[in-house]
Amino acid sequence: MDNHRNREEIKEAITIGEGFAIRKSKTLGMNYAYYALRFKNINDDFYILRTSGDYSKQLNQLKLFAILLIVFFLILNYSVHFFYKNYIKRDLYNKIDKMKTFLIGGEKLNSTTLKDETWLLQFWNVLNEWQKFNLENINSLNTERKILNTVITSVDSFIGLVNEEGEFIVKNNSLDYLVLKDKCKYLEAIKYIEVVDIIKEGLKTNKDISREIYISAIKEYFIVSIKSLKSEKKFLITIKNISKTKKTIDFQKKFINNVGHELKTPLTNIKGYLIALEDAPEDMKPIFLETVTHNVDKLENIISDFLNISKIENYPSVNLEYFSLKKLKNSILKSLEMTILNKKAKVTFNFQNNLTNIFSDFEKLNLILKNLVENGLLYNKSKTPIIKVSIKENRDTYVFEVEDNGIGIPNNKFDKIFDRFYRVDKARTTNLGGTGLGLSIVKTLVEQMQGEILVLSEENKGSVFIIEIKKQ
Ligand code: ADP
Repeated sequence: MDNHRNREEIKEAITIGEGFAIRKSKTLGMNYAYYALRFKNINDDFYILRTSGDYSKQLNQLKLFAILLIVFFLILNYSVHFFYKNYIKRDLYNKIDKMKTFLIGGEKLNSTTLKDETWLLQFWNVLNEWQKFNLENINSLNTERKILNTVITSVDSFIGLVNEEGEFIVKNNSLDYLVLKDKCKYLEAIKYIEVVDIIKEGLKTNKDISREIYISAIKEYFIVSIKSLKSEKKFLITIKNISKTKKTIDFQKKFINNVGHELKTPLTNIKGYLIALEDAPEDMKPIFLETVTHNVDKLENIISDFLNISKIENYPSVNLEYFSLKKLKNSILKSLEMTILNKKAKVTFNFQNNLTNIFSDFEKLNLILKNLVENGLLYNKSKTPIIKVSIKENRDTYVFEVEDNGIGIPNNKFDKIFDRFYRVDKARTTNLGGTGLGLSIVKTLVEQMQGEILVLSEENKGSVFIIEIKKQ
């Protein structure tokens, strides 16, 4: 039938031998399944045999089955998702959370918790190793940071690191009279323009600068350095107070100058009198010889003072021992025997009741008291110079007093007499044999023993030197 020739199953049967199709029948309006088969008869004519059957029921069953299948998989999917979310995921989260806690707080995690999950256990082991390594690194970094911090904070120079904007990233608190602690910008932190200018120049030119400056407002010398750390884009600032070194150098220069001067005068005198002695009349010779002897004594005094200075500066430590005050008294009287005799002086010692021994530095005290008694004898014009030494003790201190009836010291000179080479009235005292070093030696010794010295004096009446030394 020609009108069936175009049907799907017929076309298929013509080309491949058989055909199958399912479609809605136009005539019956229902789903039918069609099957067509091609075969030949004995005359070699082609025939197509086609059959059909109602397929609506099966199709509906198939549709239902498909829907059921989809619903089943949806439910399955949801269940898996639910199970994953509420159990596996939560469990995983818990484990990860425990690992996190361990990582943050270094808490120990029992590896049996993870023994069922091999991958998690492996991951945990890797994490553990990594954490151990990290902790070691953090520890060594912390130690290094602490050491660096200690080094930076304990140096007596200022050290600071600034960025290109001039803000301090790190700084120590040394020289806080120069650099304010709580300011971040160097412009606000550094108090003196002399320092600010150097840093400004270093930041601007990106060059290393090291300069010695004097800040007149505080009368101190400093070395200010700025070093550009080019790869870091930062600048290292160091400020060192060099006033002490400067003063020491100045002092040494002055000292050498004074030493030369002090030695020169008696030496010139000795030389002059020795030359004059050759042609001097016989009756003058003893006078000349006496002058020579006097100048030799003076030289001896000067050299002894110089030696004492170098001794006390080289051995500043205190050497404590128990010794008797009698021993101290005898030692002083012995070393000043000649002067006491020549001056027809009276030197008395008075010790507080029951005080016979003290615990202190014998050598230093001996030198202190010898110098003070000697001054009391030298700067004394009375017919009978009287020097009274008294020693007493308080709960925490020993008090030594040396009183004389000598020429006295003007009030305005009390501070100065302790300076090296200082003499109240050079012209008046130079012949008395002093070098101007005695009291400076006394003061240094007293300071080394953590004590204090005080002077009370009235011109033409006398002086009292009071020394208080802490008991050790
Ligand atoms: P010097 O070694 O010349 O005696 P000192 O340092 O001991 O120097 O003393 C400094 C100055 O203080 C002396 O030159 C003297 O003018 C004055 N001086 C020190 N002790 C006395 C004293 N007891 N009485 C009066 N003047 C004193």
